[in-house]
Amino acid sequence: MAGTLFIVTAPSGAGKTTLVRGLLQRDARVQLSISYATRAPRAGEEDGREYHFVDVPTFRALRERGEFLEWAEVHGNYYATSRVWLKEQIAAGRDTLLEIDWQGAQQVRKSFPEAVGVFIMPPSMQELESRLRGRGTDSDDVISRRLLAAGGEMRHVAEFDYVIINNEINTALDDLVAVVRAARLRFLNQRQRHPENFDFLEQD
Ligand code: 5GP
Repeated sequence: MAGTLFIVTAPSGAGKTTLVRGLLQRDARVQLSISYATRAPRAGEEDGREYHFVDVPTFRALRERGEFLEWAEVHGNYYATSRVWLKEQIAAGRDTLLEIDWQGAQQVRKSFPEAVGVFIMPPSMQELESRLRGRGTDSDDVISRRLLAAGGEMRHVAEFDYVIINNEINTALDDLVAVVRAARLRFLNQRQRHPENFDFLEQD
């Protein structure tokens, strides 16, 4: 039985990481795909947990070997999703979530057209800026680049199935949990999960 693939995209600072962490705590059936990244780990990040941190030559070598389902350059760094691992997980029926940018989302939809796309929006650009500054992990230069990129990222919102406006974290988390739950109730998923309930369809 195939698992459901969720693609979660947001401009940085919209609260995506917090929401995804909350979802993983509330729903043990969802697992997170760990991407490859060429940026330096932030304080508190660990190799193999937030990302597989690799240098640019290693990234290029992996890319040339066809290891990536998608890759993108975001804020001057490279990011990618492992092809084999993801295909295995979905084929094994595991619901898997990708936290990737809009470029990656476009590429993944080509291989997994049934993937469920979720876009997380900040309440406003002003709020986004104060969240990025409050995080205290990035320099002014990085913050300005990310704000500019946020505007570009938001232009792709219409490519996603669901939109969550992160005004208040608990409400937004309830929304994300609801999206995952609704996706599992789609006809094809239900028929795969409970084939006996749909036997009558074969009789026509
Ligand atoms: P950060 O460096 O803040 O963790 O992530 C920066 C951006 O890279 C975010 O928009 C995030 O969604 C995106 N990103 C993380 N992993 C991947 C990936 O595997 N593929 C793509 N295309 N984007 C990614």
